[in-house]
Amino acid sequence: MPNEGVDGCGRFSPSPVEPIAMTSCPFCTPDDPKIILANEHALALPDAFPVTPGHSLIAPRRHIASFFEATPEEQSAMLDMLAEMRQRF
Ligand SMILES: [Zn+2]
Repeated sequence: MPNEGVDGCGRFSPSPVEPIAMTSCPFCTPDDPKIILANEHALALPDAFPVTPGHSLIAPRRHIASFFEATPEEQSAMLDMLAEMRQRF
């Protein structure tokens, strides 16, 4: 049951022994005008403090803590987006 205990954001809900687990973050609710690219599983957003032209963030649509929590489909979507963003800048 992979979805048991998972909230709408895709993150496990806080348990009594983990009261401060995050269930959402700014990347889960980005301002639409800021979205550079979007695909089924990922979004590309401008970095708030860019250090190079085109410095961007690629985030999964589902709230997870790291790339390694992403499903193979989500990882593939993020890598496809990375390649597309690389071509743009
Ligand atoms: Zn999030």
